[in-house]
Amino acid sequence: MKQTVDKLKAKIVEISRRLYQRGLVAGAGGNVSVRIPDSSCILVTPSGVCKGYLNLSDIIKVDLDGKIIEGRLKPTSETPMHTEIYKVRRDVNAVVHAHPPFSTGFACARVPLNSPIFPEVIAMIGEVAMVEYATPGTKELAMKVAEAARNHDALLLANHGTITLGASLEQAYQRTEVLEEFAKILLVSTLLGGPKPLSSEEVRRIRGLDAEKYRLEYVKHAD
Ligand code: 13P
Ligand code: ZN
Repeated sequence: MKQTVDKLKAKIVEISRRLYQRGLVAGAGGNVSVRIPDSSCILVTPSGVCKGYLNLSDIIKVDLDGKIIEGRLKPTSETPMHTEIYKVRRDVNAVVHAHPPFSTGFACARVPLNSPIFPEVIAMIGEVAMVEYATPGTKELAMKVAEAARNHDALLLANHGTITLGASLEQAYQRTEVLEEFAKILLVSTLLGGPKPLSSEEVRRIRGLDAEKYRLEYVKHAD
């Protein structure tokens, strides 16, 4: 069990570093969590610390009520958001919260990121939810997020940032990367006269065949 937990901690450290290095978070922004298999606990990143330079010993174990089980630092202020997601989505094992500048620009303008124009998003992410604004770190935000997470794997938090969910940390992280790429593409195509949507038949085809292929690839690359 210790080996599994240490491997998951190492993957959180890696994903947090990738978020910071790609500019998907800045300062002490963002947080990451993963479910510990066969337990009612999760591992989370510490609060108020730059996520680009974490060590294994910085990661905190909490139960689904947010109680600290192990760790010397304070768990993320968004712990309620993470625990509420795991309660409503038994298929989700990892959650990534970031402030990617392009996606967050859409979230601040409250412009949805859901035009059916880019096959990778249709296959890998599906529809992106827009969650009404609530103060960061509050139970109110956690409840709004959990409601939207029932039916979505990617969420824009109005005036705040993004959340992506996954069966593994790698999948949750890649969804954040692809969401941010999509926000850039949508902005550029809007500047160039507006994106041309794919037909609903094509969207159905991508959702069916390709989504299954992408899911299988993810399972192979799970942590
Ligand atoms: P923490 O450092 O407490 O995780 O907060 C970062 C953040 O993004 C809050 O929304
Ligand atoms: Zn945040």
